[in-house]
Order: sequence, then C-alpha cells, then structure tokens
Amino acid sequence: MRAGVIKTLFKRFVLPTYRREGPVFVKGKGSFLWDSSGRKYIDFFPGWGVGILGHSHPRITKILSNQAKQLIHIPNNLYHPYQALLAERIIENSFPGRVFFANSGTEAVEAALKLARAFGKREGRYKIVTMKNSFHGRTLGSLSATAQPVYQSPFRPLLSGFKVAKFGSFDSFLRQFDKKTIAVILEPIQGEGGVNLAAKDYFLKLRKFCSFHNILMIFDEIQTGMGRTGKMFAFQHYGVKPDLFTISKGLGAGFPISALVVKKKFSQVLSAGMHASTFGGSPLACRVGIEVFNVIKQEKILENVKRNENLIKDFFQRIRQKYDFIKEARGKGLMWALELRTECEDVFPEALKEGLIINCTHKRIIRLLPALNIDASLLLAGLEILEKVLTKLKR
Ligand SMILES: *Cc1c(COP(=O)(O)O)cnc(C)c1O
Repeated sequence: MRAGVIKTLFKRFVLPTYRREGPVFVKGKGSFLWDSSGRKYIDFFPGWGVGILGHSHPRITKILSNQAKQLIHIPNNLYHPYQALLAERIIENSFPGRVFFANSGTEAVEAALKLARAFGKREGRYKIVTMKNSFHGRTLGSLSATAQPVYQSPFRPLLSGFKVAKFGSFDSFLRQFDKKTIAVILEPIQGEGGVNLAAKDYFLKLRKFCSFHNILMIFDEIQTGMGRTGKMFAFQHYGVKPDLFTISKGLGAGFPISALVVKKKFSQVLSAGMHASTFGGSPLACRVGIEVFNVIKQEKILENVKRNENLIKDFFQRIRQKYDFIKEARGKGLMWALELRTECEDVFPEALKEGLIINCTHKRIIRLLPALNIDASLLLAGLEILEKVLTKLKR
C-alpha cells in the first residue's frame, strides 16, 4: 500500500472537511504509531484525546474480539448485561443517578440539551447559558452551544435560546441569566478552547446559584472525564457535583461510545420514547467501557497521571522561563497547553518530521493529551523533541 495512492484516493473520494498532512498511519501500540514506511512516532495526542490507554491496549483488543464473537448489537428494547453493568460503574464513580448511552460526544450533549428543554417545558423556561470558547460538538444543537464564530457562522441560523458568558466569570454568567434560563453548560476545563481553567470558587458559586434557581448545571466532561485530569471526572477537583454530565472520548479507549449521566433528582425527566439512539449502549461498546474502568483501576492509571503531571509541569515551567516565545503553560493531569507568543501551526508538521504527534489549537496553543498510561521516560523523550522543534522554529 503506497502512501501516495491513498492520498490520491482521499482527494478524489473523501469530503475535504479535514486538513490532513503527513504520512499514512497503519499501526499503533501504546504511545507509538507507525506509518506505512515503517517509521515510528511518539503520539502525544492519541485519537484526539480518545486514546487514554494508548493504541490497541491488549486488554481492550481482547475484550473487543471476544465480545464481537459473542454479541455485537441488539436494539434498546431488549436487555443485555453490559449496558446496565457499565451504567453501574459510571454511577459508582460519580454520584447517584442514571445513564443514557449514545455513540459520540455531540450526541451525549444533544441528550443533555433535550433533557434541559424537557425539564423547562412546563414553566416555559428554555434558555441555556454557554461559555465563550467552549466546544460541545458539531451537530446543530451542540453547535448552538459551541460559542465560537468560526464553527457557527457558516450554519446560521442555529437553535435559539443560547446565551454566551465568559468562562470563569460568575458576574458574566449572571448577566446572561434571566427567568427563562433552564440550564448552564460548560466544560470544567475548556479543551478545544485552549485548556482554560477556572477557579474553584467560580464553580461553587455557579453550583449554589443553579440549585437555588432550579437551573440544571451541565458539565461537558467529554474531554476531561475518565481520568484525564487525575481524577475520574474533573468536577471532583472542584467540590461540586453537576446535575448532568457528558462523557465520551476516553470511555471506549478508542471505541465509539458516549454517555449522559443524570443526577437522581432529574432522572425521570426523559421517559420512554422521548429520546433514543439505535447504536447507543450496544453490548460491544459497553463491554469495552467496563474494561476501560477495570484497566484504570487495576493498572493504577490515576496514579500514573499524577506522577506524569508533575513531570510535564516541571518541564514546561523550565522551558517557559528559558524561552521568551512561550507565553504560558497550563493544565491539569495529562491535559496541557503551551501557549506561544507566535503562531503554532508550523509546529505540528515540524514535530511530525521529528517523529512526534502534537496538536495546535486556537493558533497559538500547543495542546497535549498523551495516553494516561504513558511511561515517564517516553513522556520526557517526547517533550525533549518538542523543545527541540520549538527552538528550531521560534528562536
Ligand atoms: C470532542 C468533544 C466533543 C465532541 O465530541 P464528538 O465525538 O466529536 O462529537 C464535545 N465536547 C467536548 C468537550 C469535546 O472535547
């Protein structure tokens, strides 16, 4: 299989909705990827944040093939064991409530938005406050909540009733709130928006206000969930419990699955027939999700995140002091951003040439979402490549 041939086929037959560059990848193992010429790369962005256990973790590939032989899919009007068992695991790791399963991040967000609308229906409340620089997905509902003109403009008019506040500012939220507001949706740490963090006090104030006014607090944990930030879910850092939260990226460690988790108090809002997903919560997807929880626990993944968090933090602090072109380093767990004073679009192709896969978002922000089970030595090796690339390009 020649890389050139594949690229030609892409050009001819695949819609050009993505900018693609670099080689053709054919194999992955742990934090490594191999291209069609046999060259090996360190992957600091496995599956866009999906590959929390790296590529083709042996326990994930094993459970996938075993379950595929047993039962792949049955519809949601029939019982199978694994949907209930996975829901139990999610609830054990969060708070009392119930779970709805879908397949992708944006679908979990849609389920949350629909639940909010249904919840507000009787009182005529329907408005949802969302955050500037948020990212909630590409379908029209989730896109309406994604307050970034670059993604929204081509598709206007969008769903009505969304108000945009500044992430991290409670006053800004208050200015967007009115008596028609039914929910607020936010990422506990903004991912695509550039790894933006907010103070604990902000979340506490929001929580208190939402409870008092009977507004749903919705956390989008699609990127931050499943151990990414050093706790199973990021809200656990901040001493608040959302009413609803969404998870997806890490939940299947590469296999598509997503979930909306709903606090007990709101778990009767969506009744039979009000919402559905044909593929959502299949035996195959849920079996994998359960195994992801098992691996996180048995392989002490959260401990590894903590250790490596310190390693990245120290490394970034050191290079930030050393190089003027670095504006800021920020992150939590294994979700990190290095904000440059110059554009970083040239860093991705240059790093690729040096055998390292990273991400550049919002023009100046290098984002890293390495596998949560990455070795400290490999992490350090990749960071050194990144430093080398940056000094070459930016000095
Ligand atoms: C990736 C992401 C989504 C969208 O997920 P898809 O599976 O691409 O639909 C939504 N919210 C957050 C926070 C994400 O990181």
